[in-house]
Amino acid sequence: MARLVTNFHKSSVIPIRCNGIDLSSVLESIPARRATFPTKYLGLPLSNSRLQKVDFQFLIDKILGKLNTWNGRNLTADGRLTLVKSVITSQAVYLLSSLRVPKDLMKCVDAKRRHFLWAGMERLTGGKCKVNWIRSARPKACGGLGILHLARFARALRLRWLWQEWSSHSSASSPSDSNCTTTDRLLFAAATTLTVGDGARASFWNSPWLRGLSPRDIAPHVFHISKRKNRTLKEALCDGLWIRDLNLHHREFSATHLMEFCRLWSEVNQQQLRPNVCDSISWKFSEDGQYSARSAYQAQFIGSMSTDFERLIWRVWAPPKCKFFSWLAIQDRIWTADRLARRGWPHIPLCALCRSTQESGIHLFADCRFVKRIWREVALWTASENLLPSSWGHYDSICLWWTDLADAMSRNKKGVRSLIILVIWEIWRERNAKIFDHREACVQQVLNVIKGAAALWSAAGAKHLGGLIRRE
Ligand SMILES: [Zn+2]
Repeated sequence: MARLVTNFHKSSVIPIRCNGIDLSSVLESIPARRATFPTKYLGLPLSNSRLQKVDFQFLIDKILGKLNTWNGRNLTADGRLTLVKSVITSQAVYLLSSLRVPKDLMKCVDAKRRHFLWAGMERLTGGKCKVNWIRSARPKACGGLGILHLARFARALRLRWLWQEWSSHSSASSPSDSNCTTTDRLLFAAATTLTVGDGARASFWNSPWLRGLSPRDIAPHVFHISKRKNRTLKEALCDGLWIRDLNLHHREFSATHLMEFCRLWSEVNQQQLRPNVCDSISWKFSEDGQYSARSAYQAQFIGSMSTDFERLIWRVWAPPKCKFFSWLAIQDRIWTADRLARRGWPHIPLCALCRSTQESGIHLFADCRFVKRIWREVALWTASENLLPSSWGHYDSICLWWTDLADAMSRNKKGVRSLIILVIWEIWRERNAKIFDHREACVQQVLNVIKGAAALWSAAGAKHLGGLIRRE
């Protein structure tokens, strides 16, 4: 039998409403330390009053403590991205799952994440921040980097409390939901399907039991004049109690109330409770009908812009730094001469590779005559006709050109997508070598570098790319 005993040296006593009590004599036999609110319990701030911003400062201090040990200058952008996603963000998640934190705190954490992602420990300037934070903090399917959006993730975690209200068989007005906002409840109602049984657990006004809508949504004015808003469905329908709850002498009572009431009354009358069957709900966004934080989070991006970046870049075999670069390149967010010129920053206007046209993203990767010769050699080497520049149309956007190129091949699409990332990466390296190191390489030399890198990628696990290059 385990001999568990309280360790008083690790315990504290926090008196609540003990005015007029001689605590010293009461606690004489308990050798625990005496403490006051706010304190920390299981790593979370605990207080008998509303938590202030200062009570959450420990989170910012913890994040700064992590950042100071990493040397951002020696990390690549994708390395910093991994740390932002897996370490800095996870510091906040434990807190978000239990408490409703101030918006300022989330803004502060976002500022730290954004700064480290784009600038490491250096000063953050407009030039370093290549894509705005709102876009970066979207899921990959919506064009972002898959960094968690803290406010939306916090909402997804709060919905768990509402879900557990049902699964733990507590009443519809359990106090555990005190952290949930009205928006949380509306999202929860939209995300679940309610099957009415005996009505003992569903809330008459708040549960979406009338063809997916709640009476509160159908008749907001009538809801306003109800004196009892927390009745269960069973209670409210018993002898038309919900009608008797209405304050008909309310000073704002009008024809609108009457019309809403008639509609609600007719809808309510069409519903029948089923005795001996429990009310149940199922989650719309998962196959098994069960809540998951992941699906609750993703549901908040339904209707957002969707992109092909996941298919073209993130699910393709390539080293993470090349994928990160590709994510910037496909959005035309790398510092080519045209973008530097728009900002009035120092630049060499002509393309470093052909020295005849102004450099832009689409020129550098697709239109440049030097680059077209590289693509031609790559197409011949891999026997991929669709990579031949002579078969391309005219494109104004890198994204359109990239999508067409990646989808044109009927065979081994994954191999071609890896190859596109590889060629783009090497073109960028060659361009930088010419501008910054003043090194020149001919088409054949660049092709040899591409072939060498392709063999290495293939050996490291890019089996689809391996299938493509073995056709030579
Ligand atoms: Zn050029």
